[in-house]
Amino acid sequence: MTKKHHFILKIAQIVLSIYALNVSAQFNLYIPPNFDRAYTQHSRSRDGAPGEKYWQNKPSYRMQLNFDPSTYTLDGHLEVRYSNHSPDTLKEIVWSLLGDIYGRKSLHDFPLDVNQLGEGMHILEMKVAGRPVDLNKSFKRSGTNGTLALDAPLLPGGVLSMEVSWNFTYPAHITIRNGHYGDSTFLVGHCYPKIAVYDDIDGWDRSDYRGYAEFYGEYADYAVSVTVPPMFKVWATGRFINAEEVLLSKYYRRLERARTSGEVVHVITKEEAEKRVTKPGEAITWKFEAMQVPDFAFGTSPRFCWDARKVMVDTQNSRSVLVQTAYPPERIYYPRLIYMLDTLMRHYSSEIPGIPFPFPMMTIFNGNDGMEYPMMCNNAEGNSWSSSVGLAYHEVAHSYFPFYVGTNERKYAWMDEGWASFFPQFYWGLHVPEFDYFKSRMERYYKMAGDYDEVPLMTSTRLLHDRPPYRQASYNKPFFAYVYLQHLLGEKVFVGALRGYMRDWAGKHPTPYDFFYSMERYSGQNLSWYWHGWFFEQGYADLGIEQGEGATLIVKNIGGLPLPIRIVALMASGAKKTITLSLDAWKDGSTSLEIPLPAKDRIKEVRLGDEWIIDVNPSNNVLVFPVKN
Ligand SMILES: [Zn+2]
Repeated sequence: MTKKHHFILKIAQIVLSIYALNVSAQFNLYIPPNFDRAYTQHSRSRDGAPGEKYWQNKPSYRMQLNFDPSTYTLDGHLEVRYSNHSPDTLKEIVWSLLGDIYGRKSLHDFPLDVNQLGEGMHILEMKVAGRPVDLNKSFKRSGTNGTLALDAPLLPGGVLSMEVSWNFTYPAHITIRNGHYGDSTFLVGHCYPKIAVYDDIDGWDRSDYRGYAEFYGEYADYAVSVTVPPMFKVWATGRFINAEEVLLSKYYRRLERARTSGEVVHVITKEEAEKRVTKPGEAITWKFEAMQVPDFAFGTSPRFCWDARKVMVDTQNSRSVLVQTAYPPERIYYPRLIYMLDTLMRHYSSEIPGIPFPFPMMTIFNGNDGMEYPMMCNNAEGNSWSSSVGLAYHEVAHSYFPFYVGTNERKYAWMDEGWASFFPQFYWGLHVPEFDYFKSRMERYYKMAGDYDEVPLMTSTRLLHDRPPYRQASYNKPFFAYVYLQHLLGEKVFVGALRGYMRDWAGKHPTPYDFFYSMERYSGQNLSWYWHGWFFEQGYADLGIEQGEGATLIVKNIGGLPLPIRIVALMASGAKKTITLSLDAWKDGSTSLEIPLPAKDRIKEVRLGDEWIIDVNPSNNVLVFPVKN
């Protein structure tokens, strides 16, 4: 929302306001039986907080990744200790093999040239508690998952050690959120066998990854060694713990200066981008450690610049974050990003959402996409400074959702993409004043608003295999659902409730209901009508006006979405009278409202709507009254 929109919101609260008399209806939101069970078993709670018996399982990975950029091949070995904190006895372990999306036998949401695709992931060997697994007998592949049948079940409270060796080859010319970007540049993500989430709602997550619906990660600890040829530099999820061992002292000293001084440091300058920065050796192993994150990824290139700086994100606890950018020397806008990241981090840490950046690192790596990983994003440069800024704000926002708050993107993408679309609205314009972000969101929303394929937000994301409904339900419509929720609650209550929800669910897996109930508890309001109208129903933004009986105006909610109402009456004298109604005018579920008009015989024209209220059909927003002489 721009400053102007804030101003209008303030004005809206103080100008002549008429509140239609209505009663809040209690909407009984549909709750599927498996969610309901979580409440009876107290793993979740109807006040929105995690239940007293909330649990989640915990993997701890040690991985050795050898990456050969000349063949695009990753050879990996991992050891994982998996703790079963659930009350259930597990007879199998489901592994998410996301790299299988690059396999020509996998299903894809978008057309791909199958001749360009590869084999997916090769699992070479598995061990459970030190004993080799007969892969043909006990490991069943299906879609992008592999299910390992256990000889001995994993009991509640038990811990299982497993090992996997695998390899995976990226196709040369196709990238799906990661991969090969030419010039020996790679963002290597989603290409290790990862234990799927086991939760209290669905048990094992067996979703097939086909491209649109994203990920659901179990919070895990990672200790990862990445071995690459000596010319290659590596940036990854987590702290780079053996920098002194890896980097020539000149570069190491620069990185240390960035970590400690607060100044922007060019660890690898434009002139040095193609030079070797590592100590002697045939293959160099870079080591990273990350605690309590739902995924791991790394980026690598032999010809990248590296900028870094420390940013204070939490003055109370004197905690700072090392922010970094990594990009090829010919980039135009990338060199400016490191300066902007300071502002970005402060915005997110102290304004909206106003929670100190929750991880020790953040790197923006220039592959050619817009994709988030914990502490990493894979961002294209874009064709303007504006798009580079916007993409940085969007992808870094994902550090909060789904990485700090571990939402399930495979089913509820609006719980992360909605926020990653929402947060940048407050800041983009500060960097690029001529760009109207709010208007651009409106235009995106209008493209399919009211279309038959525009599904209710509660539709599981993994069912959306077509791009327009996927984007509408994950990004465009939830953006406005949050905008008007903020308007309804007021900024202070809204932000307070959002922070309460985020803190309660940090490092955990909330469902939509946990979000709804949390917002109600922290705001002290029954918002069931709002969730019903915006999240459960099919509906679109269209209010219209008609002349009512006597001196009244009828406002019809044609599209069904609860929206704020702003009416401007233009009087014969040239004066204007403004009538505003908060969107809770719709909270009783009515579809039309009768509004008394001031001195109707002197009105020339009535206009409904405003530039910050979405409305797909402006043609029913104007009434012109005959002029009386
Ligand atoms: Zn996103």
